[in-house]
Amino acid sequence: MATSSGTLFIVATPIGHLDDISIRAIETLKNCDVIACEDTRHSKRLCHHHDIRTPLLAYHQHNERQAGSQILHRLQEGQNVALVSDAGTPLISDPGYVVVQMAHQAMVPVSPIPGPSALISLLSVAGIDTSSFRFEGFLPNKSSQRLNAFKKLLPNESTVVIYESSHRILPCLTDIQTLLGKDHLLAVGRELTKTFETIYHGPVDSIIQQLQDQPVQQKGEFVIAIAASNLEINDKLNAAAKKLTLALMPLLPPKVVSKLVAEHHHCHKKEVYQFILAQQASE
Ligand code: SAM
Repeated sequence: MATSSGTLFIVATPIGHLDDISIRAIETLKNCDVIACEDTRHSKRLCHHHDIRTPLLAYHQHNERQAGSQILHRLQEGQNVALVSDAGTPLISDPGYVVVQMAHQAMVPVSPIPGPSALISLLSVAGIDTSSFRFEGFLPNKSSQRLNAFKKLLPNESTVVIYESSHRILPCLTDIQTLLGKDHLLAVGRELTKTFETIYHGPVDSIIQQLQDQPVQQKGEFVIAIAASNLEINDKLNAAAKKLTLALMPLLPPKVVSKLVAEHHHCHKKEVYQFILAQQASE
C-alpha cells in the first residue's frame, strides 16, 4: 500500500428514505476532501438533509475513465475521496468499477461504508429462501432479448433477483409467468422505503392481476425476487413421478400427463404440471 495516499471510501446512501444512512457514512461524507457522485444535483439533496458541506464532483457512466483519473490523482496526493451513487450501494448496477480498479492497480486503499441496497432490502422481507441467490441486475430492454436472457436463467435452482423499471414491469412479470407457470412464487418490491412502498408476495399471476387492477402501481422503481423453481419441484415430486412424467411428455398433452402421474403417484396435478413447464422451458 502507498501509505501517503488517501483512501477511496465506497459509501452506500439511501434508496428512498433520506434517513437510511449510517452515522459512519455521514461522518465519512463530512470529513472527506471530495465526494464523487453520479448526479451532483441529486446528491446535493442528501448532503443538504444531513448538513454535509463537502465539495462534489461528477463521476458517472459517461465519464468513468476521465473522472476516475482525476480521482486517482487526488488520492495519490493524499486526499480522501468518497464515492456515492444516486441510490444504494455504488457498483451494484451503478458506476464505480472503473475507479475501484484504478485504485487497486495504484495500491490505493479502498474501504466500504456499507448500507442500503434495493436487492438486499427486498430479500430481507421477501419470504423467499435467501440461503443462496443470484443477482442479475437489469435484463435487456428489448422484449425478445429479455425473454432470451430469462430462458438462460429460468428455471432457477436458487433465488434470482433482478431490477426492473416501471415501463417494463408487466411484460417482465409476464415472461416469468410464461416460463415458470402462473403459480410460481415471487416477491416484488416497489418504491422500497419511500412513501408509497408496496411489497407483493405470492404467485406471479396474482401479482400481475394486482398491478393491472391498479395501473398507478405500475409506476416507480421495482426489484423482483423469483423463488427457486427446481428446488421447489424437487422437494415435492419424487424421482419416480418425474421419471414417469418425462416418459409420458412426448406422448400425451401436459394436462393428461399431470392427471395420470398424480393419480399413479398420489401427488398434486399442479406440481406435475409445473415440472412439465419447467422441463419445456429448459429445452
Ligand atoms: N445501487 C442501487 C442499489 O444498491 O440497489 C441500484 C441502482 S440501479 C441504477 C436502480 C434500480 O434499483 C432501480 O431501477 C430499481 O430497479 C432498483 N431500486 C432502487 N431503489 C429502489 C427502491 N427504493 N425500490 C425498489 N427498487 C429500487
